[in-house]
Amino acid sequence: MSFPETGRVFLIGAGPGDPELMTLKAARALHLADIVLVDDLVNRGCLAHARFDAKVIEVGKRGGCTSTPQVFIEKLMIQYAKAGKTVARLKGGDPFVFGRGGEELQALAAEGIDVEIIPGITAGLGAPAALGIPVTHRGVASGVTFVTGHTRDGGEPNWEALARSGTTLVVYMALRRLKEISRALMAAGMKPETPACAIENGTLRSQREVIGTLDGLANDVVNEAIGSPAIVVIGDVVRFSRVKIVLPARRAA
Ligand code: SAH
Repeated sequence: MSFPETGRVFLIGAGPGDPELMTLKAARALHLADIVLVDDLVNRGCLAHARFDAKVIEVGKRGGCTSTPQVFIEKLMIQYAKAGKTVARLKGGDPFVFGRGGEELQALAAEGIDVEIIPGITAGLGAPAALGIPVTHRGVASGVTFVTGHTRDGGEPNWEALARSGTTLVVYMALRRLKEISRALMAAGMKPETPACAIENGTLRSQREVIGTLDGLANDVVNEAIGSPAIVVIGDVVRFSRVKIVLPARRAA
């Protein structure tokens, strides 16, 4: 990895929540940044790696809440990079997994700005791992599919095909439409008793989860008041969730 002195953007994945799950490369790039643009899903503990004199700009974009328009964020990055600044764009999880990182990369590339991508552990891997759920397992799940339950900006995932895929399903932004999603999967032949869970604030000390079955999960989520951000995992591998392996020390709130 080369770090020229000025005028470039690092598109950084901050990991799923726990700041210790950020990569060493992310920490190093953050330390070089003059400007840090940070999403609201990013744990503020990650900013410990920014320089004390860096300008930190919060650009929250949580679904449904007041947000900074995407175009404005892109303009800001372009403006600072063209002014010769080193910009760190810090996003939750991995920048290219439901993070609009691809759009930001295109916008920057169109202006001829150098961009370096630093991948992060996506919530769809971090949250199940925090519960001891292997997303693939020999003889149980031959693959894993990351899918969004939020269909406002994109098309509806093909639940029928997903139900038949035999892969573990990891659904981001699933809470609001969980009932419809479960029904669609069951209508396509997925067994109602398929193990399923919802994990809120995965990898953080505030992590909460409900573990049950596909047919009951939407109700369980309401009863337990599971809120955003949450990941839903559907598939036989969820049975492993009873094995809890948690490093007790130094987990952020
Ligand atoms: N780029 C991010 C995803 C952004 S979309 C990544 O790779 O993880 C935002 C969605 O991610 C949330 O609605 C939720 O479904 C999921 N998410 C992010 N952080 C989470 C966490 N700590 N626990 C559970 N789900 C999380």
